[in-house]
Amino acid sequence: MNLSDLYHSMDYGPAPESAQEAHRWLQSRNSRFGLFINGAWKHPKGRSSFETLNPASGEVLARCLEAEERDVDAAVQAAREALPGWQALSGHVRARMLYALAREMQKQARLLAVLETLDNGKTIRETRDIDVPLVIRHFYHHAGWAQLLESEFPEHEPVGVAGQIIPWNFPLLMLAWKVAPALAAGNTVVLKPAEFTPLTALWFAECCERIGLPPGVFNLLTGAGATGAALVRHPGVDKVAFTGSTEVGRQIREVTAGSSKKLTLELGGKSPFLVFDDADLDAAIEGVVDAIWFNQGQVCCAGSRLLVQENISDRFLEKLRRRMETLRTGDPLDKTMDLGAIVAPVQLERIQSLVEQGRREGATPWQASRPLPERGCFFPPTLISGVDPASTLAQVEIFGPVLVSSTFRTPDEAMELANNTAYGLAASVWSENINLALHLAPQLKAGVVWINSTNQFDASSGFGGYRESGFGREGGHEGMLEYLQPKVSSSGKAAQCQRSPAASGENPRPAEATVEINRTAKLFIGGKQVRPDSGYSLSIFTAGGKLAGEVGQGNRKDVRNAVEAAQKAKGWSSASAHNRAQVLYFLAENLSVRAAEFQNRLRQLTGCSARAATQEFEASTSRIFSYAAWADKYEGRVHTPPGRTVVLALHEPIGVVGVICPEEQPLLSLLSLLLPHMAVGNRVVLVPSLPHALLATDLYQVLETSDVPAGAVNLITGDSGSLLTTLADHDDVEGLWVCGTPEECAEAERRSAGNLKRLWTNHGHQVDWLDSKAAEGRLWLQRAVQVKNVWVPYGE
Ligand code: ADP
Repeated sequence: MNLSDLYHSMDYGPAPESAQEAHRWLQSRNSRFGLFINGAWKHPKGRSSFETLNPASGEVLARCLEAEERDVDAAVQAAREALPGWQALSGHVRARMLYALAREMQKQARLLAVLETLDNGKTIRETRDIDVPLVIRHFYHHAGWAQLLESEFPEHEPVGVAGQIIPWNFPLLMLAWKVAPALAAGNTVVLKPAEFTPLTALWFAECCERIGLPPGVFNLLTGAGATGAALVRHPGVDKVAFTGSTEVGRQIREVTAGSSKKLTLELGGKSPFLVFDDADLDAAIEGVVDAIWFNQGQVCCAGSRLLVQENISDRFLEKLRRRMETLRTGDPLDKTMDLGAIVAPVQLERIQSLVEQGRREGATPWQASRPLPERGCFFPPTLISGVDPASTLAQVEIFGPVLVSSTFRTPDEAMELANNTAYGLAASVWSENINLALHLAPQLKAGVVWINSTNQFDASSGFGGYRESGFGREGGHEGMLEYLQPKVSSSGKAAQCQRSPAASGENPRPAEATVEINRTAKLFIGGKQVRPDSGYSLSIFTAGGKLAGEVGQGNRKDVRNAVEAAQKAKGWSSASAHNRAQVLYFLAENLSVRAAEFQNRLRQLTGCSARAATQEFEASTSRIFSYAAWADKYEGRVHTPPGRTVVLALHEPIGVVGVICPEEQPLLSLLSLLLPHMAVGNRVVLVPSLPHALLATDLYQVLETSDVPAGAVNLITGDSGSLLTTLADHDDVEGLWVCGTPEECAEAERRSAGNLKRLWTNHGHQVDWLDSKAAEGRLWLQRAVQVKNVWVPYGE
C-alpha cells in the first residue's frame, strides 16, 4: 500500500504499546505471587494457586495463591494489630503516605496502564487516559482528606479494619476507590482483588512497601469467591466494602446481619440513556459510544438501555449504526482500538447466551461488519432495537458491549421507562433544554445522573446506587463517611435494648367487646384513624399494672395499607423544605399546648417521676424545633471536578421508610426517629413501642391538627416483632430504621436483603435520647437521605 492509497482509505496502521516493561516486572517476580500480609510477602505451603491470563491472547501472565481461611485470619490479625499505631499517627503523616502512593503511581503510570490492559483486556487508551489518571487523582484527593480529617470530621472516628472486595472491571480504580478513603480515615485494610485481575493490586502492595506504609496497614489476599466470603465472615472485620454482582451483594447483606459490621455495597445496574428530540444528536451519539462501549460495556453504570424520543428514533439509530461501523475492536495494547477483549471466556459465554436468549424472545441484534480478531475473548459492539421494556434484554444486566433501545413519547413516559428497573445506579439525560434536564434529574431513581454526558467520575463526587444497585457512596465527603463512625455511638458500654413481653399480646380481645369508657385507640393510616384489620385490640397497662386503655392490634394488612398510603403521599417529599419546616413548627406548637396531658401519660405508662416526664416532654418539643430548623438547612453540596462541570450532590429523601421504636423514653425516642424523616421528606410507617402505644395514639390528634399531609406519617400499634418482619419484607418500603433488641436488628438486616433497603439499626444498643449530640442532628439526617450526584456540564 502506498501513501496515496493510505490517503484514500484513511485506515489506521497498528500502533502497539510495548508490553516489555510489564513482562520484565512479571519475570523479575518469576510470575508467581504470594500474599501480602503484615508488610511481607507470604508463600504459605499447601495452598491452591490459580493463573491469571491475558484475555486478548490467552497467554498466562502469572500464578497467584488462593488465600484460605487461615490466611484471612492472619491478614485480619495483622490489620487489627496495626490499627493503634496507624491511628496514633497524625492526619498529616497519613496524608504524606497517601501522597507518596499517588506520586509513586504517577511515576509508573505507563507500567500500570499496560499491566491493567494485559490482565483485564481493556484498551490501553482507556487504562492510560482514564483508569490510571483517576486512580492517581483519587489518592491525591484522599491525601487531602487525611490531612483534614480532624478538622472536617471532629465528631467521627475510624471504623477499624476494613475488608474490601473488588471486581475485575476496573481493578486498580476500584482498589483506589476503596483503599484511599479507608486509609485516609484511619482504618487498616485487607483487600481481595478479583481472581481474573490481581496484577495491579499486587503491584500496589509492593508500592506500599516501597513508600514505607507501616506493616499491616494494607494487606492483600488473592483468591476467588471463597476467600471473599471468609473475609466477609471474619469477626475481626469491622467494615465490609464490596463491589460486584447484586447476587453476591445480597448474600453479603445476609451474612453480615447481626454482626454490627458497617457495610457498603456497590452492585449492578441497567442504566438508562435518554435522548430527547432537542438533544445535540452528534454529541449524544458519542455519548452512547462512551456509555456502552467504554470498557466493552463491562461497567456497572454502563448506559445499557437507550431510550430515544420516538420522533427522532429512526434518524438517531441510523446515525448510531454508522458510528458503530467505525468502532475498532482488537488488540487492547493497540492505541487505535476502541474496544478490547472481554475479561474471560466465562463472561464472553454469558454475553453470548443472553444475546441468544434475546434472539429467542424475538429480538434482532445488529452488529457492525468489521471482523473481530481470530483468537482471544472478543464480542462486537451490538445494538438491539425495539426491545420490550419487560424483556430479559431490557431488564437483565448483560455486562458486555450490548445496547438495547426503545422509544418514548413524552418526558413522563421517559421517566416511567427509565425507572422501570430494580436497579438505580446511574442515568444519562441528553437535551439542550437545561430546564427539562434539571427537572428530570430528581425524578430518576439513580445515584448518579449525568446531563449531556456519561460515565464521568471524580474523586470529589460520590458514586453509588439507589435500590438494588446497593448502598453507600464512594468518593468525596460522602465516601469518607462510609469509613467513619460517630464517636458517640461507638461506646460498647451502651446498655442493650430490651422489650417487655407484649402487653397482652397472647390474649387479644375483640375490639367490639371493649366496654371501658376509655375508647380503643385505632391505627393512624392515610391521615385517618382506622380500625385494625384484625378487629382485635391489645390492653395497655400503667406502670402499676392497671388497665390504661386499649390499642388496635395492627397486622400485615394494616402495614400494606399504610405503605400504600405512604407511597401515595409523594407530595410530602416534593414539598419545599420551608413548607416542611412550617409543618414541624406547627407540630411543636400543638404538642406544647398539651404538655400536661402528655406528661401525665408518660408518668402513667412508664412510672417515671414528674421531673423526668417534664424533662422528656421538653426535650421532645425542643427536638421538633431542631428538625424544623434543620429541614431547610440540611442541604447538599456542589463539587467542581476537573473539567467544565459542576456536580450537584443533592440530598434526596429515601421515600417510604418503616420505623420500629424502642421502649426507652417512649415519646422522645419516637419523635427522634420520626422527625429526621419528616424533615428530609420521607414518608413514614411507624411502629411505636407497644407498652407505651397510648402515647403514640395521643399523637394522632396532634398530627391531624398540624397540617401533616395524609399518608406522610402513619402509625401502627401492635407487636413490633411481627410488624417489623412485614415492613422488612415489603418491597415498597425503601428504608427501614430499627431501634430495638439485637435480635430485632439482626432480623431486619437479614430480611432487608430482598430489595436491599436502606437500613439503619442501633445494633441493639440503647441510644441516650436526652443527649442531643447523640440523638439528633446531622448524623440522623445523613441516614435519612440518599445522595444523588447530578453532573452538569457547562461551556460551549
Ligand atoms: P462479577 O459478576 O462482577 O464477577 P462477583 O460478585 O461474582 O461479580 O465478584 C466480585 C468480587 O466478589 C470478586 O472479587 C469475587 O471473587 C468476589 N466474590 C464472589 N463471591 C463472593 C462471596 N460469596 N463472598 C464474598 N466475595 C465474593
